[in-house]
Amino acid sequence: MALKAVKKGWSPETWVSLRPFGLGLQKPNNFFEVFRALAENADNLEYAWRILQDGVCDGCALGTSGLRDWTIEGIHLCNIRLRLLRLNTMGPLDIEQLADVERLRSKSSAELRALGRLPYPMRRRRGEPGFTRISWDEALDRIAWKLCKTPPEKMGFYLTSRGTPNETYYVVQKAVRALGSNNIDNAARICHSPSTVALKASLGVAATTCSYRDLIGTDLVVFFGSNPAVNQPVMMKYLYYAKKAGTRVVCVNPYLEPAMQHYWIPSDPESALFGTRITDHFFRVQPGGDSAFIAGTLKHLIEQDCLHHSFIAEHTRGFEEVKAQVLATSWEELEQLSGVSRAEMLEFALLLAKAEKAVLVWSMGITQHASGEDTVQSIINLGLARGYLGREGSGLMPIRGHSGVQGGAEMGAYASVFPGGVPINPETAAALAQQWGFPVPPQPGLTVTEMLEGSLEVLWSVGGNFLETLPNPAQAEAHLAQVPLRVHQDIVLSSQMLVEPAEEVILLPTTTRYEIPGGCTETSTERRVIFSPEIPGPRIAEARWEGQVFQEIVARMCKPELSQKVRFADTAAVRSEIAQVVPLYDGIQHLGQKGDAFQYGGPHLCPDGVCPTPDGRAQFRPVKLPANPVPEGAFRLVTRRGKQFNSMVHEATDPINGAPRDAVLMDVSDLQKLGLKPGQRIWLHNAFGTLPVTVFPADVFPGSVQVHWPEGNVLLDPKLRSRQAKIPAYKEVYVYIHTQPPPQSPHSNAAAAG
Ligand code: SF4
Repeated sequence: MALKAVKKGWSPETWVSLRPFGLGLQKPNNFFEVFRALAENADNLEYAWRILQDGVCDGCALGTSGLRDWTIEGIHLCNIRLRLLRLNTMGPLDIEQLADVERLRSKSSAELRALGRLPYPMRRRRGEPGFTRISWDEALDRIAWKLCKTPPEKMGFYLTSRGTPNETYYVVQKAVRALGSNNIDNAARICHSPSTVALKASLGVAATTCSYRDLIGTDLVVFFGSNPAVNQPVMMKYLYYAKKAGTRVVCVNPYLEPAMQHYWIPSDPESALFGTRITDHFFRVQPGGDSAFIAGTLKHLIEQDCLHHSFIAEHTRGFEEVKAQVLATSWEELEQLSGVSRAEMLEFALLLAKAEKAVLVWSMGITQHASGEDTVQSIINLGLARGYLGREGSGLMPIRGHSGVQGGAEMGAYASVFPGGVPINPETAAALAQQWGFPVPPQPGLTVTEMLEGSLEVLWSVGGNFLETLPNPAQAEAHLAQVPLRVHQDIVLSSQMLVEPAEEVILLPTTTRYEIPGGCTETSTERRVIFSPEIPGPRIAEARWEGQVFQEIVARMCKPELSQKVRFADTAAVRSEIAQVVPLYDGIQHLGQKGDAFQYGGPHLCPDGVCPTPDGRAQFRPVKLPANPVPEGAFRLVTRRGKQFNSMVHEATDPINGAPRDAVLMDVSDLQKLGLKPGQRIWLHNAFGTLPVTVFPADVFPGSVQVHWPEGNVLLDPKLRSRQAKIPAYKEVYVYIHTQPPPQSPHSNAAAAG
C-alpha cells in the first residue's frame, strides 16, 4: 500500500487553539528569531544570506541544501540554524584578550564565543598568565616534534561534530593512522554509538533504514526517547504534513515534552496561526524502562497474534528466543521495570497491530544508558516483529542531532572502526594498509573517555569542549591539566582551552565549513551525502582547514616517506579517495556544486527485508531488562535539553516550557510528598556531586527528576558507560533531594527532603 496523501486545504482537527499565533501561550516565538538573526548578523548580512541560501546547514543532521531539502516543498529553516549563523559571520577576536587567562575564566561559554573568531595560532606554556601569538610554522614544528617523540598509544585525537564535514574526518583519521594510532574518536561516540553497534549486529547496516519521506503518510510514527521539536525543528514540519496525511504519532518518554504535544510551524500559515497537535498517544515510561515497555508490547503482540509471521519466517532468525524470553517474563515484572501498566502496553501493541507501516525513531533518551545497545536492540526486535523494514513507509531511524556525526564514524574517525564502519582487526588493518601504502595499527584505539583517563602525552581536540560534554567536569579538567601538550583547534574560544597547561597548550584557528577551499560534504540522518560549496566572503586572518593542517603535520613528522601518502591536492581529491576506500560512498567523487547529493543505499536499506548479513536475514536478540534499582528516598535523574544546540546554551529560559536553566523538573505528586513549592531552592546530591536547582513542576515520571544538560553533568557517574559502545550513561544516575546545602562528602546517610 502506498503512503497516504497529504490532505489539501486546512485541517482544523489538528489545530491547537483558535488564538492566532498561540498568543499568550507558553511557546517559542520563531518569528522573533528571524529579527534576532538579522540584528546579530547586521555587519555581515550579505555573507549571512549567501550561507543560508547556498550552504548546507551546520546545525542538526536533518540536512539541507541552502534553504531546501529533499522531503518537502518550501522553505527548510529553523531557529537553530539562525542562532548558529553568527559563529560563521563574526569577525576575529582581539588577541590581547588572551594575554590574561584568569580574566577569561570568569566568562561564560557564550561570552567566550561572543569574543569573536580565533585568528592566529597561540601558545601558552606552564606558568605563563596567558597566550601569545606564534606563527603557523612554529606551531606545526612544535606539535610535529612532540608527536615524533610520543608513542602512538600516548596520543589522542578527538573531533566534535561542529559542522565537521566528511573530508575533514577522512583526512584527520588517515593522518592519525599514519602516525600509528587508532586513538581517534568523535562526537558520535557520545550520542548514537549504541545504535551503530546494535543495528550493525542485527541488520548488517549502521544507519537509518528509511527516508524522511516515509514519515509523511505512513500509518504510525513512534518516537522513543527523542525530542525533535528541540533538536531537529524542521522534523516538526514533516510531522505537520504527516498529520495532514492521517499519520498517527506516538511518543514514548518519561516526559511529554510540550513541543512534541503541539507545535507552531512558522513557515506554514495554518500551523503558524493555529498550531498543530503532534502527539496522538503518549506513554510515560520510567527512565531506563523502555526495554521492559517494549518487551511487554511484544508479549501482547504475541498473545494477540499480531506479528508479521511471513516477514519473521522469511527474513529473520532468532525470534523464538525472544518470544520465549518475553513470554517467560511476568506482567508484574514488566510493569515494575517499565513503569507502564499492562493495559497501556496493550494500547501501544494494538496501535502497532493496526499499523501496516510504521517508522520507529529513537534518540539519546534511548542510547545514553549503560544498556544503550540492548534498548536499541529492543526497538529493532519490535520493528522486525512487525516487518517494519525495507519498504515504503517503514523503517528504523536513529535520528542524529549534529550535522557531522553520521559521517564521522563512516569516515573512520572512530576508535573502534576503520572507514566504512569496518571493525578494526589484523585482517582489516592489512587491507587498509594495502590501499594506503603504510602500516595501519590493527587493534582498536581508546574511546574519548578512555583517552582522558589514560596518561596521554598529546591530546588534540578539533572543536568540542570536554568540560561541558563529559560526565564529572572537575575530573575532566583534572585529566586535561595532566596532558603535557594539548592542541585545541577551533573557530572560537572554549573553556577547555583555559585549563592550566601541564607543559603547553597550543590553539590553532580553523575554518568553518563554508570557508573550506573547494567545498565539502556532510551526511544526513537519512544517509544523504550533500555537497556544501565554499561560500565567498570575508575570511579570518590565518584560519586554516583542519584537513590541511593534519597533512602538514604528517609532512613535518619524522617519517618523511608518509608525506606523499597523506597528501591531497584539494577536497575533490579527498572525495575521490573516499569513494575508493568506502564503497558505500561511491558517488561522492561526483559532488562539486550546490545541490549535488546522493543517498547511499537508496531510499530504503535492507530492501524487501533482505539484509546485508551472511544469510540475508536480520537477527532478533533477547535483551536483559535493566533493573537499575533506586535506593529508598532517591530519585532517578535524567538530563534534558533546553534552548540550546549541543552544549551551546542559547537561552537562560526554555521558551517551550518556561523552565530556567537551573530548573529541576518534578512531578507534582513528588512535590507534595516532599512538601516542596514551585520556585523553591533545593540541592540534588549524590556520590559524584551537588547541583543547586529550582523546583519546577512538570509532567515527568513520578519518582524521577530532570535537569538541563550540560549543567547536570556534575551529578553523573563518569565510570558508568555501555559495555560495547562505551557511551557515557548521561541519563542513568540517582540523586537525593536536600532542602539545605548538603555536606560535600559522598552521600552516606541519604535522606529525603527535610
Ligand atoms: S532542522 Fe536541522 S538541518 Fe534543518 S535547518 Fe534546523 S538545524 Fe538545520
